[in-house]
This record gives sequence, structure tokens and C-alpha cells, in this order.
Amino acid sequence: MKQSLEIPRAVLCGALLLTLAACTTSPDVEPASGTNDVPHGIVLIVGDGMGAAHFTLARMLRGDEFRIGRLPHVGLVATGSADSRVTDSAAAATAYATGFKTNRGYLGLDPSGVSHPTVAEVAEARGLATGLVSTAKFGDATPAAFAAHVTNRRDTLVIAGQMLASGVDVLASTGLEWFGTDGAPTLQQLASDGGYVPVQTAAELQSVGAGPVLAVFPSGELDSESPELALHALASWALERLSGDPDGFFLLVEHEGTDTASHNNNLAALETSLRSLDEAVGIVMDFARQRGDILVIVVGDHETGGLQIGGTWSEPANSWGSDYHTGAAVPIFAAGPGAAAFDGFRENTAVGNTLLSLVRRMGQPASSR
Ligand SMILES: [Zn+2]
Repeated sequence: MKQSLEIPRAVLCGALLLTLAACTTSPDVEPASGTNDVPHGIVLIVGDGMGAAHFTLARMLRGDEFRIGRLPHVGLVATGSADSRVTDSAAAATAYATGFKTNRGYLGLDPSGVSHPTVAEVAEARGLATGLVSTAKFGDATPAAFAAHVTNRRDTLVIAGQMLASGVDVLASTGLEWFGTDGAPTLQQLASDGGYVPVQTAAELQSVGAGPVLAVFPSGELDSESPELALHALASWALERLSGDPDGFFLLVEHEGTDTASHNNNLAALETSLRSLDEAVGIVMDFARQRGDILVIVVGDHETGGLQIGGTWSEPANSWGSDYHTGAAVPIFAAGPGAAAFDGFRENTAVGNTLLSLVRRMGQPASSR
């Protein structure tokens, strides 16, 4: 292994203190890591609709508290779908989940309709603990792309059946108000049909016993986190539950509010969701740092709103160029074992293929268990 010649931060700051009396505000950067390391667990954090300007705004809002900026590996991801330069969340998440570009609206299928195993399904098959956690409503595209295979992302009942048959250990989202209305099953019905324990409050989540969990909370405004439970608290609970599996784990954490606020060109709502996403990243990174064997990735799936950072510090004049998605590339940040594989400017399929190759080296095949 190559020896680092870097001067330890403490020594450097000690010397600089003589002249600058500073350094205390400089945020920590997580240690860099190699390409070929295999993690014990993977946490993929998706800020839906987050392009470079969204991450820039989050950094301005959070200042020294900005946690995403401490992840040492940074790259760019081209987001186009198979049928368009401007993708949707279904095709975008399918690329991350399966390594295939597909048509807008498709989940877990390639453009000809052929189903491909997702990162979560491969992880399940190798005995890993798995979880899909989001502020989006139950069955929404990003988590669904990891556990469903349909040509219509709006087919919520079919998607629900497939997600509960996937074997994923933790399914958590919002959208509780949908259940039991308009021909939709109740949460209890859906959970018991799939062999899951239903959960709909923070208290129930904290006391839930063993077995697969289907947690659905009341929706937050514009897909922000549920008033019942902050995203960082949900992510923390999922990490505790999944990381104990000796075979390892895969966890998706999605913030949907960043996309919905951008569709609405609503800066105040966007700022609320950017803060809650970054707080969730902070909780995950605190957990990952203590263990040292968890790969954490933070990425957008596409840009939404054509957000522009304008004006001055005293007079910010941020503005929007669109109320839909754009074709701009999105940043990706990574820390932990295997993180260096996400450096560079790549297609979104490369993210999916890298995740698949990692989970195929984690856990063990069913035949040897
Ligand atoms: Zn969107």
C-alpha cells in the first residue's frame, strides 16, 4: 500500500495558527479509499432532481455543517434515458438499479421490456439485508425501480405486489393516506398478504419486532419528510436494523422533496428538503465512520427545474429555467470502501454496474448458505 505523505491536519493547523488563528472552521474530509475494496454495507442516497446548483445551494445553506461536501470522491453522472436526453425518475433509477438505460416510465426493464435483476434483488439473493427508504409516496419510481419490473410507473397496485414479493427487508415511505381509498388495500391487508409487519407511526417503528417491515407514514408537504418522522431518524433506524446482518447490507435512502419543490419552483420548500437530506447524510456518515466498512454514495438522478444560483450574497436572486427535468449532468459523491470507482464523468449505467459488481462480491450465493 502506498504511504501517504500528507501532513496531518492537526500539525498543519498548529503551524498555521501562528499566522492565521484559524482552522477551526475547516470541515473534516472523510479519508479517501481504493477502487477494489469491498464494503460490508452500501448506502445509496438519492436526492431526487438534484443537479450541481441544488448541491451548491445546499452548501450555501449549511455552511460548515454541509455534510455531503465531506465525501472525498466526486464525479459527474450523465442522466439521459434510452428514449430521451431528458429522463424521468423511473428510467433514471432503473439505470442505477440494473445498469441498463431504459424508456421513461419503465421500471426494472430494458427498452425492449426484458426484466433485469436489481442491486437490491442481487443483494437479497446473496443473503444481504436490504432496505428501500424514501420520503416519496409508497410505490414511487425511485424505490420501485429497485424491486419492481413494469412498463408503467403509475401501476401502483402491480408495483406494490412486486415490491412486497421482492424479499426486501425494509420498505419505508410516505403516502399513508392512499391506503384503503379508491380500491387500494389497507396497509394491514397489503402487509399481511406479503408477510410484512405494518408500521405507520414513529413509536411503532421503534418497537417493531423481527421480520420484514412495511412502514408507511403520512405524507409531508411537497414530498418533504413525513411530519411523523424525520428522514435522518428513519435512515438511522434502518442502518441499525440492517447493518447487523453478518452477510452485509444494501440500503437506498431517497429524498423526493428536492424534486417536487423544484417542479413547483418553490425555493423555500427546496431549502427545507436540502437541509433534511444533508442531515440524513450526516447521520449515515457518522454511522459509517464508526464502522469503517460502509460505502456511502450521494447522487441526484437527474436535474429538475433548471435551477440557477444568481444575485449577490446580500441579494440572492436564484431563479428557475423549467418546471420539469433537464438533461444536465448531476454530481455524485462517495466515501468508504470502493468509493474511488465513482470518480470521473460517467453514464448513469456505470453507477448501476459498479453497484452490481460490488454486491456480487458481498455476502454469498444461496447454494453455499
Ligand atoms: Zn420529477
